[in-house]
Amino acid sequence: MKNQPQVPIFDAHNDALLRLVTRTDDGPEAFVQGVEHGHLDLPRAEAGGLVGGIFACFVPSPKTPRQKVKRTVGGYEEGFPASLDQAEALQKTVAMAASLFRIEALSEGRFKVVTNVSQIEDCLASGTMAASLHIEGAEAIDTDLNALDVLYQTGLRSIGPVWSRPNAFGYGVPFRFPSSPDIGPGLTDAGESLIKACNQKNIMIDLSHLNEKGFWDVHRLSDAPLVATHSNAHQLCPVSRNLTDRQLHAIRESDGMVGLNYAVCFLREDGENRADTPFSVLLRHLDYLIEHLGEDRVGLGSDFDGATIPEVIGTAAGLQDFVQAMREHGFDNALIEKLCYKNWLRVLRLSWGH
Ligand SMILES: [Zn+2]
Repeated sequence: MKNQPQVPIFDAHNDALLRLVTRTDDGPEAFVQGVEHGHLDLPRAEAGGLVGGIFACFVPSPKTPRQKVKRTVGGYEEGFPASLDQAEALQKTVAMAASLFRIEALSEGRFKVVTNVSQIEDCLASGTMAASLHIEGAEAIDTDLNALDVLYQTGLRSIGPVWSRPNAFGYGVPFRFPSSPDIGPGLTDAGESLIKACNQKNIMIDLSHLNEKGFWDVHRLSDAPLVATHSNAHQLCPVSRNLTDRQLHAIRESDGMVGLNYAVCFLREDGENRADTPFSVLLRHLDYLIEHLGEDRVGLGSDFDGATIPEVIGTAAGLQDFVQAMREHGFDNALIEKLCYKNWLRVLRLSWGH
């Protein structure tokens, strides 16, 4: 069992950059050398076969006044986290993007920031980790979209128009369980312009934190495959962040895809934030997503360094244990390769145009 070859993994969402700029004992150098905390650094990525990933620049909401989580019968309800100022968001986004480029510079060829799929394939062949720059919540972008042009030139190739809060472009879905994702209004006029601009530039639009009205607005406006990089099946875990069967159907029709989120509170049917969540719960979501999207439209979107993940995976170094659980579940090698990286390469090529 231990002699199985490593299956390469391309992961569509991590929040490691926020950790790097937040902790005083962390940063680009620590990422390259390896640290004890968090989920993801270069040595643990290499140990786990994590050959590529989408690195999010996520700017948290101001801490005060503290966001209240209200307990409800069988669940919880969060209000909207506070909105962000554009200048502050841009400054923090630039700091996170700079960290990504510093990792590349320090890595001596082990880590490369990529902007197309051929570069990812070159990285796969040479054993270099491929990283794509993403912003989670477009607060850093002004409504004239000037910052969009500049960030694009620095390598930005995917955008979540909103995180789970309102901004100039739309309304993110607040965290509620159990709850439909249909909370709040759809995209603003500026949000519609952002979607069209992303289509023009072949920037992938990430639907993962949009509320349902915003989702259907993107469905109506966008000519690209619909993509949710880190979301799960609402039918199995009825949290507002997950995708309903109707949404999955629209994603399938558009030939887009969904990345399985390892966040236990988006996996478990009880919505609890418990790390002692077994592989069977992740595999149930994979089965369901494959049933509703087809084998070519499901991948992985860990949420490393952004969530509580199952202790059976632990960190990026434990990813091949998840692959082994897929084998034991009965997935054949062809399907495992699709889920682990081939499907993301396919959809990234469709989204980016090359
Ligand atoms: Zn997220």
